Amino acid sequence: MSALSRRCGHNNIRVTIRSGKYFRVDSPPVNALVTPQLARELHGVLERFGRAVSTGSGNRVSVFFEPGIFGHHKVGRAVDIYAVGGLGFETWKRRWDAAQQEVGRAKNEERGTNLGWRLYKTLQTCGRWSQPYGFPVQLFGPWTREEGPWKYISDFLLNAHRDHIHVAK
Ligand SMILES: [Zn+2]
Repeated sequence: MSALSRRCGHNNIRVTIRSGKYFRVDSPPVNALVTPQLARELHGVLERFGRAVSTGSGNRVSVFFEPGIFGHHKVGRAVDIYAVGGLGFETWKRRWDAAQQEVGRAKNEERGTNLGWRLYKTLQTCGRWSQPYGFPVQLFGPWTREEGPWKYISDFLLNAHRDHIHVAK
């Protein structure tokens, strides 16, 4: 720890989210500078996700972060994920919606192959995210209205998260 970070206090320490054994961070480190707590939580969930979707060829699944500006981002307690497996979330969501129009098999297959949806569900079921008093769990993305945790998400907030997933801790 440098003298500067010590003077600024523990709450101001920021770390980057490093690649793991099963996932690879493709974005520049500065795109996700977060508290050690958030980095640890997210790293654990991404490893779990990466292992689950691994094809066994040794290729790690890629994730891409973009810096956020508002709310929890200001204090390093939030992260925005814009792509997984080389595709953005608008593409994953479009694919998902198209498959929901199909019957039976295509619909089921999409649950296995849609990495965007699978990452969202892994974040939802395996991550422990912030829930400020009087506010919903801080996990928002294109699937929030259908899958939760906050199905009453407003049109405004949903539209703001069509192309990325936001989590805060
Ligand atoms: Zn965000």
